[in-house]
Amino acid sequence: MVQQSHHILKSVLTAEAALDATLDPNRVVIHPHLPLLIVDVDEVLGLFMHGFGRFLGTRGYEFRMDRFALFQNIFAPGADEHLDLETGRTLFDDFFRFACDDMEPAPGAIQALAELSKGAGIVALTNAPDHAREPRTRWMTQHGMDYPLLINSGPKGNAVAALSARTERPVAFVDDLLGNLDSVAAAAPGVHRFQMVADPRLRDMAPTAPDRHPRIDDWPALRMEIALVLGLTTE
Ligand SMILES: [Mg+2]
Repeated sequence: MVQQSHHILKSVLTAEAALDATLDPNRVVIHPHLPLLIVDVDEVLGLFMHGFGRFLGTRGYEFRMDRFALFQNIFAPGADEHLDLETGRTLFDDFFRFACDDMEPAPGAIQALAELSKGAGIVALTNAPDHAREPRTRWMTQHGMDYPLLINSGPKGNAVAALSARTERPVAFVDDLLGNLDSVAAAAPGVHRFQMVADPRLRDMAPTAPDRHPRIDDWPALRMEIALVLGLTTE
């Protein structure tokens, strides 16, 4: 009996350890002598809006790309008014619970990270809900992006400051949302910031401030700029 409980406990602990997503920046492994890239997931590494739109279709809703917003773009078929925000929030949570594996990587993202990881540490920093930690970790691994994943909520400045304080080398941060970039500028001003909007349908709508945060929507070009600020050599 004792042996059986021990066995069950051990398998639970092993299963937990397999999920490297964490909520605590201080538990992410950071190499103190390597440059660091901190990178967002949705609309940077993966085409979130495409995946979320497909999921909404399975629930009988339409996703319209009318503005740079999430819940205000969900409609019942043919409706003029968007769905109430509470229902939108529930659908968003359900997507991350049941369907967030169904997301294509952004073109060029996997290759760019693979190249950069030869000389830099990489951490994915996502504002996905906590219940997405397992499917999101699985998605990263399935697509060859086997990097530590940190789940955050709210503006990302504090998490980036905590991560970047743990290396003596340069740090870069990439996100699609201006609010996160401004938050990092305030909390960790030494970190090099880049805005990237992976989905071409969103590019003209996304609030942007290229004077504060250089904007590069194409991964091969962004990779070169990141390599430059991190002091990496590229071929
Ligand atoms: Mg994002």
